[in-house]
Amino acid sequence: MSIVFRPQIKDISAYEPGKPVEDVMREYNLKRVVKLASNENPLGISEKVKKAISDNIDGLALYPDGNATLLKESISEKLNIPEGNILPSSGSDEMIDLISKAYINPGDEVIMADITFPRYIQTAKIMSGAPVIVPLKDLKFDLDAMLDKITDKTKIIWICNPNNPTGTMNTEDEFMNFLNKVPKDILVISDEAYREYVTRSDYPFNTHKILSDYPNLLVMRTFSKAYGLAGLRVGYTLGDSDILSYINRVRGPFNVNSLAQAAAIAALSDDGFLKESYDVNLEGKDYLYSEFDGMGFDYPKTETNHIFVDIKTNGGEVFEELQKRGVIIRPMPGNFIRVSIGTMEENKMFVEKFKEVLNLS
Ligand SMILES: *Cc1c(COP(=O)(O)O)cnc(C)c1O
Repeated sequence: MSIVFRPQIKDISAYEPGKPVEDVMREYNLKRVVKLASNENPLGISEKVKKAISDNIDGLALYPDGNATLLKESISEKLNIPEGNILPSSGSDEMIDLISKAYINPGDEVIMADITFPRYIQTAKIMSGAPVIVPLKDLKFDLDAMLDKITDKTKIIWICNPNNPTGTMNTEDEFMNFLNKVPKDILVISDEAYREYVTRSDYPFNTHKILSDYPNLLVMRTFSKAYGLAGLRVGYTLGDSDILSYINRVRGPFNVNSLAQAAAIAALSDDGFLKESYDVNLEGKDYLYSEFDGMGFDYPKTETNHIFVDIKTNGGEVFEELQKRGVIIRPMPGNFIRVSIGTMEENKMFVEKFKEVLNLS
């Protein structure tokens, strides 16, 4: 007799992390391995953040501040938002989980795109919700089609803007037009993990300023990407204080560790590092665009730190061949790959090995 797991998780697979750099080095006997697979910041962490972490090391014997008071204060000052409208979390990943735990009843419909960030569908299934999948249109969120899917069972709509993995975005006009049509008893979540990389001025940069007009809107941001803190696990969500108070009930008491809190505060005050991350990304993007153009491969213009490329051949095979040569990217369904934008040196190594694998020169 075996202990029976919940049927809801039957077709959910565990996250399969890519091989760590060290493993790839050993397995293929390589001196250098470049990882452009997880949209991490190629600049590493800033000096200010390093100092904040070392200054707080001695406090590790104590539990962190379970309210993340100082971090909330910093975000509050930076964005001019009351602290009651801010809820930090152990990355956006945890927040997707918490929102689902607090709000999805069995049978509730959860609208999301395909292809987009996979945690939305997984957490919906874990909570016995009913995922409602709306295909992208020209690799972009089709907000009108999402509106059409609303029923009296709809509970949540996940908007990833800009979208991972396609890099595409919806404009402020598109988003506001959508938001105005969504009934107020449906939660709309704007996952803005890549907002710091957006170059277009028609992006909805001011979602944090409209929260009192749209109490059904949650805005999710993270320190994992442009701020370079993926390993520490910290992000925050902005929204109506009542909505956040219910999410707060299902949160673990010490979900954001003390070094993450200190580092996030330092990162918020480090505009120079953010600017540098943006600039390096822009330079790498232009370089990779021109290389892909030269090879005749199509990609949607990206507003993130990764590019979704149609390489006209199986992405999985190219992934394997690149890995043998010391470059790790992410294979995507069909003929697509997703490559994170690295430093120029990393981008050039990717292009060199990519051409080698595809027999291009
Ligand atoms: C990377 C990513 C996240 C997860 O961010 P963490 O804060 O590291 O958990 C959330 N949403 C999207 C779209 C992402 O790409």
